[in-house]
Amino acid sequence: MHIAVSACLLGERCRYDGGTKLDEAVIRLSGKTEPVPICPERLSGLPIPRPPAEIRDGHVYLRDGRDVTEEFETGAKCALARVREQPVPLAVLKAKSPSCGAGLIYDGSYSGRTIEGDGVFARLLEEEGITVVSETTVESVHPSVEHPVAIILGTGLGHLKSLVHPVRRIDYHDIEGFPDEAQPMPGHTFEATIGTIDNVPVIVYPGRIHLYQGYSASEICALVRHAHRLGCRDIVFACATGAVSGMANIGLGIITDQINLTGRNPLAEDEGLRDVESPFVDMADAYTPYLRTLARGVADDLGIAVEEGVLAGVIGPCTETPAEVQMMRTMGVSYVGMSTVNEVIMAHALGMNVLGLTLAANQSGSAGFGHDKVLEEAKLHADDFERLVRGVLRLL
Ligand code: SF4
Repeated sequence: MHIAVSACLLGERCRYDGGTKLDEAVIRLSGKTEPVPICPERLSGLPIPRPPAEIRDGHVYLRDGRDVTEEFETGAKCALARVREQPVPLAVLKAKSPSCGAGLIYDGSYSGRTIEGDGVFARLLEEEGITVVSETTVESVHPSVEHPVAIILGTGLGHLKSLVHPVRRIDYHDIEGFPDEAQPMPGHTFEATIGTIDNVPVIVYPGRIHLYQGYSASEICALVRHAHRLGCRDIVFACATGAVSGMANIGLGIITDQINLTGRNPLAEDEGLRDVESPFVDMADAYTPYLRTLARGVADDLGIAVEEGVLAGVIGPCTETPAEVQMMRTMGVSYVGMSTVNEVIMAHALGMNVLGLTLAANQSGSAGFGHDKVLEEAKLHADDFERLVRGVLRLL
């Protein structure tokens, strides 16, 4: 997987003052990928060292007042041409820079204050459809013993727990908020394992409860709250779904967004709000773009067939009618499932980074659907699912 990286983050002395902004997390990621180091300001032809530059009123000015917008645009276009030499799905750029900053840049007062906005190069990459993140994103998803990766597994996907080098096991019934009487569905186990997968700290939950079993949205989110209390910042949801014909095929999928059709929301329940600062949660990037892009890159590198699409969450347990499937198609839905959407809302409310993976085990609304069919299909994709998850964990 090629990633474009601000050259200063890799230690190149290309900053305006002749210095570097070496970043350990970015160096680590670059060591596991194929980095394309790039510095648009160096390509602009401006001298180094020189006064710092910031964006004000859509123009780039050096602190001595010189308007260098043209030079910055030239440098950004040259840098983009370099990036286009190979497929680059992801760029890790230096935060706040007038060239590389994405989403946040210095405000033009040279005081260290920032405003919302994009640097000249970051904007071009985003227009190109490349996922742009800063070094802080790469740092924030990095797991550690204090911040393991939570993995919640759905029907037929629980085999992943066998990869964990275990340190401790937790009975779900000892988890606060998890219903005492709940019993696992076929293909689920109610025992979480804390440990490592390929030396990456994880906690794996190989089963869940569902709204269709009569539980509340906050009860089904007890595992998410538990993971958050244990320090998890990243959470992977894996669920079995039906593929909407014409939108997705049976097989593995990366969830890009969701539509909550369950009529429930954990943030509308007192229990669901317990650990939450505000119920008014921004769901614009429900599935963290950085994690989605890593998953896509891993799948492409390893030759794993994975599609992408929007998940619609329904309450179930009956399958969808032809009219409902038609509605889903019209709404742009690729996958229909009976879990995950409420858990993703809770994870966002708790500030966690979310990756959603699905195994589409049947065509949505098709006859003959049942747990046996899901388990059968899951077996066929078990190796690919395992390679995909391990590949993503390796890059975090
Ligand atoms: Fe670093 Fe980008 Fe500035 Fe070059 S233009 S020094 S790569 S932040």
